[in-house]
Order: sequence, then structure tokens, then C-alpha cells
Amino acid sequence: MFHRFQQWVSPSLGIDLGTANTLIAVLGSGVVVNEPSVVALAKDSRRILGKGTAVGKLARQMLGRTPDTISAVCPLSEGVITDFKLCEAMLKYFVRKAVGKHRGFRPRTVIAVPGRITPVEKRAVFHSAERAGAGRVYLIEEPRAAAIGAGLPISEPVASMICDIGGGTTEVAVLSLGDIVVSKSTRIAGEHLDQAIVDYLRRQYSLKIGIQTAEQIKMEIGSAWRLPQEKTLEVRGLDIVSGVPRKAVITSEEIRQALLRILEEIAICLRETVEQCPAELISDLAETGMVLTGGGALIRGIDTYLTEQIGIPARIDNDPMTTVARGTAICLEHLPNWKHVLMSDSGDL
Ligand code: ADP
Ligand code: MG
Repeated sequence: MFHRFQQWVSPSLGIDLGTANTLIAVLGSGVVVNEPSVVALAKDSRRILGKGTAVGKLARQMLGRTPDTISAVCPLSEGVITDFKLCEAMLKYFVRKAVGKHRGFRPRTVIAVPGRITPVEKRAVFHSAERAGAGRVYLIEEPRAAAIGAGLPISEPVASMICDIGGGTTEVAVLSLGDIVVSKSTRIAGEHLDQAIVDYLRRQYSLKIGIQTAEQIKMEIGSAWRLPQEKTLEVRGLDIVSGVPRKAVITSEEIRQALLRILEEIAICLRETVEQCPAELISDLAETGMVLTGGGALIRGIDTYLTEQIGIPARIDNDPMTTVARGTAICLEHLPNWKHVLMSDSGDL
């Protein structure tokens, strides 16, 4: 009874602290914060603009568009925290937003952290969350949270495979009997696909475009496998030779070629993970397949491409950009069942 009362007055939070996006799920209400992991600062004072409110969507719009006096910063990059102070300020802002009317209570919190972060960084996330207003804090490895969010039977004696393609890193893991059997992480992910498009347009069309434009191109016509109906898109950029703005019409086929060089590296990471698996689990995987999560799972045809490349059937999670956050919420809901796999202050930290 007390437990239920406590849940009612003090929301429990599940946080996916991603390189590109931070999501917060509140137990009982689902995902309530879903914003870019970006903060806008005044360059001289390093204060967050708008009295501390230029965080998330607002700050993201400023990326690549800031005048000399302002900088828009991502406190995480390539799956690691590059600016602890800013990361804490951002977390504080998002936690306040999630807690809303329950302000003043210290919510129990599960945070998914990239598999690659060091013990020092884990401690930093832990204490940042506490300073940001969280109560009891637990950390969970991102691939494990993704597998739970995707509903994979990770406690059973069969192999479950997850591949999360985020903004800065791709995390791959095979789990069985509640443990991560093999895991791998590569610094190749969504941002590198954007960069590949920037490079391609410069090389092929002598056209300079920003990374944000490249991301839009990726989302609109990007693919990993031939499309039933190939697409074209008109893009605007700066002619490198003449220095004046110019348009070009590009096709989904050529963008696919540009992306494939990067996608191949993701496929290599997956293949290496499978190679390190015990033989019994590999034969499980041929049947159970792998689940794709993260924003990168939304690239058209990536499931077909990876199935062909790895020889293990790949399927995309229903809502791949929220899988990790939903996984953390499931952990909160059944905390006693998952406590042994979570990292807490009294344990590994
Ligand atoms: P992180 O966990 O690192 O925060 P996310 O899982 O939120 O990353 O995914 C962000 C990445 O997904 C970005 O690189 C973004 O460009 C990419 N992305 C989002 N939507 C799409 C889409 N529809 N098609 C292709 N890529 C996408
Ligand atoms: Mg992620």
C-alpha cells in the first residue's frame, strides 16, 4: 500500500541519455520528454541561454546557425560524455520537465548509459542525476535496456540479439540467461551517415551543404536497400567553385551508394559480434534473429540489408527511437526482478 502511495506522489523516471536524443519515460505515463541532447550557451559566460531554457529542441535549431557569441553544444558525443557540467544542466532541465507538478519529490530513476562509458563517467552520470533531482539512481547498459524494451526473452536460455544504431555509436549485444554474452560498440552511426552525404555532394556536385541538411536528405530519401520506387530530391547548397547558392537534383540510388560505405562498417561490427558467440547461441540466432533499435533503424531497407549481410534475420522494433526509454520504464515497473542487473551506488559504482 505504501509502495503504491509512494508511486503516486513521486513519479519514477526511466531515462535514455543518448548522444543525439534524451528521452524520459514516467512510470504510468509513458515517454514524456523526447528532445535533442543539445544545449545553447553564451560563449563568453558559458551560461545557458534563455535563463537556462535553451535546451533540447530550441537549442538544436541553433546548431550550425549560431552567431559568434553563441554556441550550441552536444554534451555527449560518440557515446561518451564530453562535457559533464553541461550534461548535468541538461539532465536537470529535462528531469524538471518530466517531474512537472511533482516537483520537490525525488523520483526513483533508471538511466540507460552507453556500454562504452568508463567507471568514472558512470559515477559522473550517477551523481549528476542525483544533483538534477533524482532520488535512488540505477544505471543499466543501453543494449540491455533496448532488449527489454523490445520485449526480448533475455532471461531465458536462448540467444537474443540487439543492434542499436544511434547518433554517435552503434551498440550490438547478444544476451542469454539475463546476461550480456557478447557485446560490441562502434563509433559509426547516424552522424557518420550524414557526413557521408555531405562528402558525396561536395565530391560529386561541388556543392557544400550543412550537416543538418544532410540529415534531412538521409531521412527523406536515404536507404540501405533498393526501394520499390526510387526517389529524387532537390537540394540547395553553396557552389564550391563559384561561391554562390545553387540547386541540384539527387536520387535515392546515389545517396544509397554514399551510405553503403558506412553501413558496411556497421555490418562488420555485427559480424564480429556473431563470430564471438558460442556456437549454440549462433544457431539460436538463425531462428530468433536480431532486433534493430535507435534512430538508425529507420533507414529504409536496413533490415533487408543486414539480413543479407549477416545471414541472421533482422527486424525493426515497432517504435525504435523509444525502445531504450521504454526498456528503462519496464525495469522500474518490475524493479525487484531487475535489481540484480542494475548498477547502483552500493554496487559497482
Ligand atoms: P542516440 O541514442 O545516440 O541519442 P537516436 O537513437 O535518438 O540516437 O538516433 C538518432 C539518429 O537517428 C540520428 O543520427 C538521426 O539522424 C537518425 N534518424 C532519426 N530518424 C531517422 C530516419 N527517419 N531515417 C534515418 N535516420 C534517422
Ligand atoms: Mg540511443
